[in-house]
Amino acid sequence: MLILWGTRQQQHKLGFVAEFCPVCRKITPFHVSAIRTVSHLYGVAVGSAQALGHTGNCEACGTRIALNAADYRGFSREAGSDVEALIQQTFPEIRARRGQRLELAECLRTGTLYPAERALLLAEAFEIFAHLTEANFSDATQIRGRGAWCGLGTIVLCVGLGWAASNLTDSTHQDYAMLAVFTIAVFGGLASLILLATEPRRSFARKILPNFAAMLRPLRPSREEIADLLARLKQARLKLGKRLKPERLWKALEALPVPEPVEETGRPRDRDPLPVSSAPPPIPLDSATLAAGERTARIIETFQTFAERTQANYGGGLHVRGRGGWGCLGTILLCIAVGWAGAHLASGHDQEDHVFQIVATIAVAGGIYSLVQLFLEQGRIFHRKICPELVAALRPFELSREEIHDILGRFRAAGFKLGTKLQPEWLCAALDAQSAPVGPPPMPQSGMPAASYQDDGLF
Ligand SMILES: [Zn+2]
Repeated sequence: MLILWGTRQQQHKLGFVAEFCPVCRKITPFHVSAIRTVSHLYGVAVGSAQALGHTGNCEACGTRIALNAADYRGFSREAGSDVEALIQQTFPEIRARRGQRLELAECLRTGTLYPAERALLLAEAFEIFAHLTEANFSDATQIRGRGAWCGLGTIVLCVGLGWAASNLTDSTHQDYAMLAVFTIAVFGGLASLILLATEPRRSFARKILPNFAAMLRPLRPSREEIADLLARLKQARLKLGKRLKPERLWKALEALPVPEPVEETGRPRDRDPLPVSSAPPPIPLDSATLAAGERTARIIETFQTFAERTQANYGGGLHVRGRGGWGCLGTILLCIAVGWAGAHLASGHDQEDHVFQIVATIAVAGGIYSLVQLFLEQGRIFHRKICPELVAALRPFELSREEIHDILGRFRAAGFKLGTKLQPEWLCAALDAQSAPVGPPPMPQSGMPAASYQDDGLF
């Protein structure tokens, strides 16, 4: 029997937000989706979905990028034509949070970029399109584009002709008609397969390459830079490096007009270069000196770390650990011991039946106890380990009640377990209880890797 079993990606659309698009280099509406994987058996989902993260599609250029869904106050049902209204509704602090990105875009427009900043933007363009190209060529088995239409047409035509042929009375005509159906099925099927297999190449030429060239054009990369950056991607075995020849990219670039830098009066040309690193600059964690945008970013980052830990704690099925794990082990050992002793001591059928009943009772009771404990263990780890650490990490920020409700609401809207498992009122009370004695603030937890408790199981 063929068992079709595997995992499948699911996209759950959340709505629209305002976000900075690195390809358009401005704030645009993004359509946000939560990406999950589910196990399936014959195409039917089994078990709970595992959250992979969030992506957004830029409504202006179609580029798909990874997003941090917890950045947003909410999701709008439609993109609308007014970006400013969308900003107010979904991401009011975007200008502070994406300040550096907006500043770099503005410098590029006015021709005041420093070489290091230009190199950063150039590398970023190659990185984004290397990801997009990888995704484009890896879902080659997806049924889309011309191949899909050809396949659908073949099926409709075959069904129609087959139905007509079955209504014919003359058997010679019927044979001819069936031969025609067969021929159409073979050739139509072959054509669909070829079109499906070549679809990624077409979508690369039609969508990805033009967007890539448009993003690179204002940076005016030289022929040598293009050859060098593509060679690096090739060396890293990325498909963009393998599929795209430098000459082809150069031709696509030359076909586009070069935007002239906009001269802007009153704009200082001798500004300090922006810190070119993706890591946030080291700022003392003091809510009084942190700029509003920076403070929000740090708070969200802290919540994000704990959201990932909570996700790992509750996700991925049951881990055999803690009391439930000991319960499992104890039940198995007890069953073996009682069974072994019974087999040696019992004489006669009645006593053997009795021993069997005892073993079965132990197995059922122990199994139920272990399962219940395994479920409870997730909650215990959440409340005993994750929550106290979150409270300690949040204490220096002196969060207001409204902020706690707002941020946890965001995580709930984005489908994170932290948003559903942690009650805002509980967090308020825990923070209030801790805020009385103020010692030296603990180090921010932001740099900490998202730890999971998957390793401390018994088996
Ligand atoms: Zn865009």
